[in-house]
Amino acid sequence: MTTSITHWLDGAEFRGDPKGWADVTNPATGQVSGRVALASERDAEQVIAAAAKASAEWGATSLAKRTQILFAFRELLNERKDELARLITAEHGKVHSDALGEVARGQEVVEFACGISHLLKGGHSEGVSTGVDVHAKREPLGVVGIISPFNFPAMVPMWFFPIAIAAGNAVVLKPSEKDPSAALWMARLWQEAGLPDGVFNVLHGDKVAVDALLHSPEVAAISFVGSTPIASYVYAEASRHGKRVQALGGAKNHMVVLPDADLDLAADAAVSAGYGSAGERCMAISVVVAVDPVGDDLVARIADRTRTLVTGDGQAGTGVEADMGPLVTRAHRDRVAGFVAAGEQAGATLVIDGRVVEPRGGQHGHWLGPTLFDHVTSDMDIYTEEIFGPVLSVVRASSYAEAVELINNNQYGNGTAIFTNDGGAARRFEADVQVGMIGINVPIPVPVAFYSFGGWKQSLFGDTHAHGAEGVHFFTRAKVVTSRWINPAARPAGGLELGFPRNV
Ligand code: NAD
Repeated sequence: MTTSITHWLDGAEFRGDPKGWADVTNPATGQVSGRVALASERDAEQVIAAAAKASAEWGATSLAKRTQILFAFRELLNERKDELARLITAEHGKVHSDALGEVARGQEVVEFACGISHLLKGGHSEGVSTGVDVHAKREPLGVVGIISPFNFPAMVPMWFFPIAIAAGNAVVLKPSEKDPSAALWMARLWQEAGLPDGVFNVLHGDKVAVDALLHSPEVAAISFVGSTPIASYVYAEASRHGKRVQALGGAKNHMVVLPDADLDLAADAAVSAGYGSAGERCMAISVVVAVDPVGDDLVARIADRTRTLVTGDGQAGTGVEADMGPLVTRAHRDRVAGFVAAGEQAGATLVIDGRVVEPRGGQHGHWLGPTLFDHVTSDMDIYTEEIFGPVLSVVRASSYAEAVELINNNQYGNGTAIFTNDGGAARRFEADVQVGMIGINVPIPVPVAFYSFGGWKQSLFGDTHAHGAEGVHFFTRAKVVTSRWINPAARPAGGLELGFPRNV
């Protein structure tokens, strides 16, 4: 049975007059489980208008009231996380424990946003000039648009909307059409938490929906996460229409292993970070840089661990204890398998071929097992392209300097890691690499919610990272008020003065 997944406007489902529908598939069975509305321009206008109508009153709602709703949302999310995780697995394919982890990392941002009263405190200076005081404050922007990718249907929207809403904005979320149900589930949760209708809205669709957000004069800011070509387009187009924009793009994350590293720890990390969520993470490790002479030993340890992984249906209650689920769509699975063939053809050593896999799941699932390449070089497609699948490439480097050069020559700069027991080398690495998020003996260094998440180079367009202090800054704008209250007892009020005001 298929369900129709519609937009969410003013606290209710809204079908609109879609320009079409897209199938939503369970990746573990290959079966169509629903269809999602693809908004027409007119549908998008209606959803944006609802947000615009709600934004003024919400922005003027007291901090106490807004915070209470944030806390209520947090409590409901925590109670029902299992439900949301199941929905994620059913449409994305990641295993249940991983989906629960995704929800937990999103919840962390909700918890951060519960402290909005403190985060919005402005500064005050008394007596900057005689009888003159100054105070600064931050106000909401109005309507903000969030455009999210398929790989974290709950966490990535939660990087943004808790802070945007807590700060007094109304939100239009445009989720990925591949796994759209999590967004609707969260919309209902907001309603239950007491958020006024119209403050959180969901607009489903493709480029038409995205363009409507980028072009609408009602939308003040855009937070985008997705592939680099679309991030670059969104950044240029939204900026051209006068919006502030943060657009997070693709990645190719390197993990350097120095000769003094604990090789068992490094191999565990490479396998977990390379194949978790079937490699469909922007912070996945896709390249291991083995610095001589550790290559052979490290590859053997990675291969031993990789061979133990079970690929299968990750849904809770199926009785399958899978480590890794299927890929999101058949087309994406075939694209990743195409990279495996290309790597082989280019002369890399195929240590483990994920095309040969016995999945524990439906025969039409989008299966591809973990794949390991050794002796990959920087001119091969499997090195230069973001594969976004369970394909781990090992590149051999003769020195630390060569490893750093490789990272800095790469077009992406999202995350990177170094495995070493040498504190001096780790400290140098931190300074030497042109990458936004760095792990030292930590393979996936996703910052906690009160720090900000973002890459460098082609991994981020705009200058503001997600959540933490930068998130609060992004979703608010500053006002500085200079006021003078003259004490008539001290000196007479008024008097003409045509010169530029001086501080005395
Ligand atoms: P995508 O770029 O295909 O889609 C992202 C969003 O853009 C979706 O909502 C989609 O509907 C929309 N979109 C797609 N094509 C469009 C077009 N032509 N015009 C306008 N909008 C369009 O990305 P995806 O496949 O959903 O997600 C995977 C990508 O996201 C990977 O490249 C991954 O690295 C990246 N990602 C980056 C981060 C990060 O923090 N840097 C986090 C998660 C994912």
